[in-house]
Amino acid sequence: MCGIVGAIADRDISSVLINGLKRLEYRGYDSAGIAVLDQQSCIQRVRTTGKIKQLEEALNATPANGNTGIGHTRWATHGIPSENNAHPHVCKKSIAVVHNGIIENFESLREEQRSQDYEFTSDTDTEVIVHQLHKHFYSGNNLFDSVRKTVAELEGAYALGVISTDEPGCLVAARRGSPLVIGIGDGENFIASDMSALLSETNRFIILDEGDIALITKEKVTVFDTDNNEVKRTVHE
Ligand code: GLU
Repeated sequence: MCGIVGAIADRDISSVLINGLKRLEYRGYDSAGIAVLDQQSCIQRVRTTGKIKQLEEALNATPANGNTGIGHTRWATHGIPSENNAHPHVCKKSIAVVHNGIIENFESLREEQRSQDYEFTSDTDTEVIVHQLHKHFYSGNNLFDSVRKTVAELEGAYALGVISTDEPGCLVAARRGSPLVIGIGDGENFIASDMSALLSETNRFIILDEGDIALITKEKVTVFDTDNNEVKRTVHE
C-alpha cells in the first residue's frame, strides 16, 4: 500500500502535500514525489527515491510552490524504485497523475499509445493513464470527461489524482479498488488515501465509493457515480 495526497486552495499547498505524505509513511513506500501548478500554471515536479525527508531536501534545492497539486508515496509494482518510475507521471508538460494500484491492461494500452507517438519515460503501469488522459483531453474533452473516458478503459485497481495546466482551477479524483477520501475545507479542498493524512487541514470528509469520480475546485466538490450520475455522498464530521 502506498499513498496519495492532493490539494486545491488559495494558498501555497506544497507543505500540505509534504505533511500529508509524512502521515502516509506508515503505509510503506520506496519513493515519493509531488507536482504543483505554479503561478504560471506550469507543472513543477520533484521526485526522489527513499524517504520523504529526501524529497523535502530536493524541494529545498528546487522549490515547487503553487495553489493546486498532487503528491504520492510509491510502492513499486511495475518498474524498480527509481526517480523516473516515481509518481507523479506527466504527459507533454500538461497533465500530471498520481496512482495507487495496478493497471492490468497496461501492455495493450502502451502498445497502442506507442503507435500514436506517446513517449514513455518510466517502466510503470501508471504511465499509460497519463497518456490516455492526454489523448482524450486534446481530442476536445475537459479534464473531468478525460478522466471518465480513461478510467472506463482501465482494467485493474486505481485511486487517482489528476491536474492539468489547462484547467488550473480543478483537481479530479477517481477510485476503484484502492481507497480515496476527499477532505472538505473552507474555500479549499483536499484528497488523500486516508483521513489521517489530512487531519491537520480538516475534519470533514467524503469517502468515495467504488467507481466514483470527483470534480474538485476550491469552493466545490461534485461526485459522480459509475453511471455518471451526480450523487450526494455523506460528509463525515
Ligand atoms: N503500480 C504503480 C507503480 O508501480 C503504482 C504503485 C503504487 O500503488 O504505489 O508505479
